[in-house]
Amino acid sequence: MYAAPTASPVMAQGAYPCARCGGPGADHFPPGGPPMHRPCAGLGPDVLDWPWLLLAYSVVVPIGCTLVGAVIASIPYYIWRRDYPVRARTYNLHVWIAFGLSCLMWVGLFALMAVFSPKR
Ligand SMILES: [Zn+2]
Repeated sequence: MYAAPTASPVMAQGAYPCARCGGPGADHFPPGGPPMHRPCAGLGPDVLDWPWLLLAYSVVVPIGCTLVGAVIASIPYYIWRRDYPVRARTYNLHVWIAFGLSCLMWVGLFALMAVFSPKR
């Protein structure tokens, strides 16, 4: 029985050989392309640096519960989605947390204003 020595979907991810250097453990899977190591594909590590979190929160929270901030802050997510999936997902998660925080703050603010506004 002949088994082709190519990668199959049932293989564990760590078993994929790299298309560039031939070593095992390819961890980058470009759509429609062969698996590669991230360094072999010219990519950095798939992690989110903390300044991006700062940016996400400082853009989304002040603009408030209007979706505009969330949409603007989501642009990096679409840029990273293909080559940096983990970074994109982590970043997007924090954008939505910031959006939720912002909504809570605005709701709280209006509730306070309603309570303390002078009755006529
Ligand atoms: Zn490689």
